[in-house]
Amino acid sequence: MFNLGVRCVQSTKIQVDTVLFTLVKLRNYVSFKTAARCLSVNTNIQRRFYSNNTMLNLKDFCISDYDVIGFDLDGTLLRYNLNNMVPLEYELLVKYLMEKKYPRVLLDKQFDSDFIQKGLIVDAERGNLIKLAADGEILKATHGTRFLSSAEIEDVYGKSRKWDIAQDYINDPLSAWNGPVSEKLRTLLDYFDIAASLVFAQAVDALDETVYTNTNVLQKNDYKVWPDILSGLIQMYSRDHFASGTSAYFEALKQNPEKYLLKTDQQVIQLLRELRSSGKALYLLTGSNIDFANFTASYALGPNWRDLFNCVVSFAKKPGFFFMQRSFLQNNNLSEVPNSEMPLQDDLLAKGKSFSQGNWEQLNESLCKHVLRKDVNKTSRSLYVGDNLIQDVYAPYTKASMDAIAISEEMFENKSSYEYYKIIQSSSWGSYFNLNGRPTLWFSVIENYSKLCISQMDVIANVPVKEKIQCGNQHGFFPNVPNGQLVQ
Ligand SMILES: [Mg+2]
Repeated sequence: MFNLGVRCVQSTKIQVDTVLFTLVKLRNYVSFKTAARCLSVNTNIQRRFYSNNTMLNLKDFCISDYDVIGFDLDGTLLRYNLNNMVPLEYELLVKYLMEKKYPRVLLDKQFDSDFIQKGLIVDAERGNLIKLAADGEILKATHGTRFLSSAEIEDVYGKSRKWDIAQDYINDPLSAWNGPVSEKLRTLLDYFDIAASLVFAQAVDALDETVYTNTNVLQKNDYKVWPDILSGLIQMYSRDHFASGTSAYFEALKQNPEKYLLKTDQQVIQLLRELRSSGKALYLLTGSNIDFANFTASYALGPNWRDLFNCVVSFAKKPGFFFMQRSFLQNNNLSEVPNSEMPLQDDLLAKGKSFSQGNWEQLNESLCKHVLRKDVNKTSRSLYVGDNLIQDVYAPYTKASMDAIAISEEMFENKSSYEYYKIIQSSSWGSYFNLNGRPTLWFSVIENYSKLCISQMDVIANVPVKEKIQCGNQHGFFPNVPNGQLVQ
């Protein structure tokens, strides 16, 4: 689940080991079978974009090309009712800050779905939120909830409108996952942490209104709000808190799952069954602890959800899972067995099918041996599907030589009839994919590191597994490019 984009950089090792990392934590298949048909329904702007023979570079995809296929759970196979879940997160974070004695004026502020957008970046010490272009230029920024003018952005970040810390992050998002950079910059990349942007901004406003009234707040560079938000997220999502009943977030979901969780489309479940029965090696890889994963997966995928996969890995600690040499631990009775670390050379699937933590190399080797019946060194193609652009797309692509499918509900940002439209679009921040014709950082990550970008799993669930999906664009969006993202 949670990749809370929540990295626990200031926590002790014990805390880190007990926290669900989410920082890294969302139907309508339109059967465009040919690129030409895709283009035929798109705008004349799109036709302009695809001039100059760029048709030659159109991306395509066929799921049966892959031998080993991994799936993220939260936001991928399991979707949430965002209209209920995001306000719950907001409410709990505000409550947490009030317990930390934040100014009471914070309670007067309201949930504002329009201020929320996936992919915002926290400039923690300045109390700012920023939205970046692909090259790192700041497209929009706020101090607290107030949007900065262009001149103010240049006053704070320089004429180039670039923040050096953000440049470091763009150059190597994984190096910034922990360590000094992550104390200054946070990315809010999934629906488990996007409410944090609003709470952070409103808390900065509350302090400016009541504590820093005689300060030039745009020059102030030592806000301490983010560490409190982070500890609030840890309180909500720490894995031990599901069993102990000490997280109001988990308790709300336990008491009212139908309010927060969606049943996974039967066609998606059927796709998994078909892939597995055709001999593909399927695994589920989630940041959630096994007890919470079992709770949500049982609701969404059914009580026999484990049977859909050859292997289940919980508390996987992505993105490190894809490139670090962490040991697997056994799961038993919905909990990780203490001190059950398995040697890195062990044959995983000879010892069960549900594990915690671990590493990609060992999992891949065992899946190849037991499912594909071939040596890992023989060519096998791997695919990973997930919604977090860094841990589910960038990391597997760059560190584990996999192709990746990016799930982005923001592809519905111009579809006002979409049920969760209010959460996934923001008129304040503008398109998730571009602003004034310039691609955002996240658009470029999708374009560069994903094989395909879809709004939901349902989109590909009823495409025959051996059928080639042709995107109709070189960026990988299917069935078509979200409106408004085109570079002018
Ligand atoms: Mg996810």
